[in-house]
Amino acid sequence: MIPARSRAAAVLLAAAAAAAAGPPPAAAQEPPADDAAVVSRLVEEASPLVEKARGLPFKAKVEAAPVSFEKFIDRYMVEFERLLGGAEKAAPASRLLARLGVLEEGTDVRAVIGRFLQGNIAANYDPVTGKVSFLPGAARSVQLMVHELTHALDDQHFDMKAQMASWKGHVDRMLAYGALAEGDAESVEYRFMTKGALANQPLEQLRTMADAMAAAVMQGKFGATPPALALAFKSQYLEGLLFAEALRRTPEGEKAIDAAFRAPPDSTEQVLHPEKFLAREVPTAVALGAPPEGTRVLMETTLGELASRIVLLARGVEKGEAAAAAAGWAGDAAALLALPSGEALVWVTVWDTEADAAAFLEAAMKAFPERKGEGAPARTFVRRERRVEFAEAGLDGLPAALAAAKGAVETPPAAPGGPPPGGGTPTGK
Ligand SMILES: [Zn+2]
Repeated sequence: MIPARSRAAAVLLAAAAAAAAGPPPAAAQEPPADDAAVVSRLVEEASPLVEKARGLPFKAKVEAAPVSFEKFIDRYMVEFERLLGGAEKAAPASRLLARLGVLEEGTDVRAVIGRFLQGNIAANYDPVTGKVSFLPGAARSVQLMVHELTHALDDQHFDMKAQMASWKGHVDRMLAYGALAEGDAESVEYRFMTKGALANQPLEQLRTMADAMAAAVMQGKFGATPPALALAFKSQYLEGLLFAEALRRTPEGEKAIDAAFRAPPDSTEQVLHPEKFLAREVPTAVALGAPPEGTRVLMETTLGELASRIVLLARGVEKGEAAAAAAGWAGDAAALLALPSGEALVWVTVWDTEADAAAFLEAAMKAFPERKGEGAPARTFVRRERRVEFAEAGLDGLPAALAAAKGAVETPPAAPGGPPPGGGTPTGK
């Protein structure tokens, strides 16, 4: 989700700062007695820094205050459910994520995220209220306020709430916008923290650090949180920083960031490959058609390149192969269907080239191996040219599931300047 700011990102920043500009800042301390006044004063101090960095003025003074974790999480979950498309989507979304291997079966995505945030949230900007909250235990630092006020300034100029209203459970768009918003805030914060040295730090170095951080997340360095879910969250900061730095270093500078907020990335593919964003390589829209008689779509989403990669990682595909297999992504629809025989996962994907489809198929068949034994649902892959369809259902339900997948509607992208180059660029190097 957008408004959160993770300590893991701060770890990355601290590591980078140590390399670039001396020791990292002091660790978090107990908040002082006049905590509210301290937080408020940070707004005064950080506001002009953010205005200067972004080349834009605040349209209104930002309010900031300390908040308890309980209050914060209540508010967070209201927005999270809205982003899912309604509270009633939380249960099928949890089951879809479990079938993909991102969550454990029988867990509620809201509860898992709540537990994860308890140890990983320092401060928050809420686009609905326009206010900044500082959580207990987080350092009351100018640096952290610079991050949050960057969100506030971006929101005042580019209306985040309006952008978020259209997501309705669209995982790819949520993560892509999250990467833009967090990436900009990370970049501004980190440039402030390094006294500008970040601007001269080669992107390859930042890539190496982001990859190391992602690997640590997948190794389960974040307690009980399923690593794949933690990685999806943290990638908004890690990949977002690289994305924002790539834009900020174009000749347009801050104007390139402004333009990205005016017309946000269509997909995480564009975030992972900023050149595709600048060329506006539009994803192929894939949606399941009307399901056959007796079948209901409980939850449908688009995973995108980033979440597709994370699904492969979560299911044991080696990181280089997972990144390469997801890199040719052009579009997808993943759905949880209710069949007469039970629930089934269907994942319809489209790839840039037939070679990309073949590479994904190979990785996906490792991730979802054929299961033998009593009660194990069959897993079926179908590849047709640039499409790979995957269905997981009991044998008796399978024809219906595949029929639903075959009804998928595919809208080819408008292709200014011809078809996209094949393969894309794996980022896991
Ligand atoms: Zn943030």
